[in-house]
Amino acid sequence: MADARKPLISGNWKMNLNHFDATALVQKLVYELTPEDFDAVDVSIHPPFTDIRTVQTYFLAEKEPVPIAIGAQNCHWEAAGAFTGEVSPAMLAKLDVAYVIAGHSERRELFGETDETVNLKVRAIFAHEMTPILCVGETLDEREAGTTETKVTGQVTAGLGGLTHEQVGGMVIAYEPIWAIGTGRTATPDDAQTVCGTIRGTVAEVAGEAAAATVRIQYGGSVKAENAAELMACPDVDGALVGGASLDAGSFAGIVRFRDRA
Ligand code: PEP
Repeated sequence: MADARKPLISGNWKMNLNHFDATALVQKLVYELTPEDFDAVDVSIHPPFTDIRTVQTYFLAEKEPVPIAIGAQNCHWEAAGAFTGEVSPAMLAKLDVAYVIAGHSERRELFGETDETVNLKVRAIFAHEMTPILCVGETLDEREAGTTETKVTGQVTAGLGGLTHEQVGGMVIAYEPIWAIGTGRTATPDDAQTVCGTIRGTVAEVAGEAAAATVRIQYGGSVKAENAAELMACPDVDGALVGGASLDAGSFAGIVRFRDRA
């Protein structure tokens, strides 16, 4: 059971790094991270679409399998069709992508994603045998208005619609307070624990206690090597979704090694 919630540290590169830069960063990560790191923590990186094939090719060329999972930042929910500019989950699965982020707050805020389309994506990601990382979180106004729980519970419930209990138990939910993303402001461990505990409670209501016991809940929002250990010590936090600090191999490795600072 404990292993089912092995911490997952995910690096969301956002719209940064071309495929040459991606090779350089992956090279450094492969050099930095050790077998002991991978025994303790699962690691995924989420490059832009244009870098994924390059990263996959780099990994395939290594003598030993590289235990860094390839992730994507988004996808469409249809497998193919007339959707100009979109990338399908089938295409990602073909590139050995293991995790796909769905409903990142930047996609919801800047590109009009709704709970309904995020749920379509989550279901499509599963249909192509990848694991969704469903992002939820409140704005600063919502936090100050005392509606954090209502917002997050609503997003989780909508995001899990139509999934089997088993699928829910095997997925990842990232709690990312929007006011903490890219701002340098981090939720306190108490705040992170409160909301992550609420998320686990919601999962129990929607999909049962067994799913709630195994679903992995990440915290995201200005995570750095300096604050990772205290956040990861929260009983309902099972990893981190990292933006800015994932663009530097040393900083990202410092987060992966949070247990050294615990
Ligand atoms: C994110 O992109 O999901 C994120 C949490 O970004 P940052 O770590 O830069 O706040």
